[in-house]
Amino acid sequence: MGITQSYKRSPNYFDVLVIGGGPAGLTASIYSKRAGLKVAFFERETPGGKVTKTAFVENYPGFKKIEGYNLALQMLSQATELGVEFKYGNVIKINKEHDTFLVYTEDGSTYYSKTVIIATGMKERKIGAIGEDEHFNKGVSYCAICDGAFYKNKDVAVVGGGNSALEESLYLADICSKIYLIHRRDEFRADNLVVQKVEQNSKIQLVLDSVVESINGDSLVDSITIKNVRTNQKSNINVSAVFPFVGFDPMSNLFDESFLKKENGFIKVNENMETEIPGLYSAGDVNKKSFRQISTAISDGTIAALSAKKYIDETNWED
Ligand code: NAP
Repeated sequence: MGITQSYKRSPNYFDVLVIGGGPAGLTASIYSKRAGLKVAFFERETPGGKVTKTAFVENYPGFKKIEGYNLALQMLSQATELGVEFKYGNVIKINKEHDTFLVYTEDGSTYYSKTVIIATGMKERKIGAIGEDEHFNKGVSYCAICDGAFYKNKDVAVVGGGNSALEESLYLADICSKIYLIHRRDEFRADNLVVQKVEQNSKIQLVLDSVVESINGDSLVDSITIKNVRTNQKSNINVSAVFPFVGFDPMSNLFDESFLKKENGFIKVNENMETEIPGLYSAGDVNKKSFRQISTAISDGTIAALSAKKYIDETNWED
């Protein structure tokens, strides 16, 4: 019996292994399972990805307005009720030997698969202010829905000018006394509709052309020092918390460039979500692409799963 054969007798041998349990990964899992394949997905945090940290989603067709965690939960239960296996754990490395992928997890386990779909998404970017790391969980939070309630009737700052910063400012405005929305330019990147809602909200004060230089406080956050980038003038604002929402970076460090080439950390795929390695697909926010929405992640996940199925059907598998 060859080495490849021994993999195939393992209970850890799958048709499809999906790395990441956000919308792209869960969709890929659902489509793979419905195609009759043996599939598992890995997730090291809460399944659902960034959606679970989003207060409300208002642009996912079929739902005029739905809580992010609720949408994520529905995707997760759809996958697990179909029989998709959920592996809670951190994938640290992927390799390919012969026609089989080897997937290693932090707890020392090894899984084997005919195909792998990467759907690892992105992680929150830091603003790089002095005191940001020291005050993490002591007033600095990257999740308004998780931590907003701690700052009921308090003044807080939100940093950023994209959809996340503006939408989370609106969420926090229902809980906190006042939101200082600090953005480094005088124009927002977010959708017009959200910008209008923010501008009309009396609890949100816009602090434009400004960056946060430091987050201050002996133990807990009590103020921030900001600098106006046009005038260089510095000032202090008393706040109990800072919520940075300044974008995300791809989570692609489980393989290095010798295994798969990346572009600024993002994975390049063709229209079938195929990477340059046969049987390896990538879907969702970790991909190099122009638009990152739940709906685009789901599209990627669908395509990756259908491509994996086609590849499995058309390949002559070694015994
Ligand atoms: P984003 O769109 O990349 O916006 C990041 C914001 O942070 C930008 O305004 C940027 O300023 C600012 N920024 C970046 N680095 C900074 C720094 N070091 N200091 C201060 N400000 C900094 O990120 P996002 O809002 O998290 O959204 C990410 C993606 O998810 C986007 O494609 C977005 O459309 C999508 N999204 C969609 C929804 C939805 O549709 N419901 C909700 C959330 C997110 P500049 O503008 O000057 O570059």
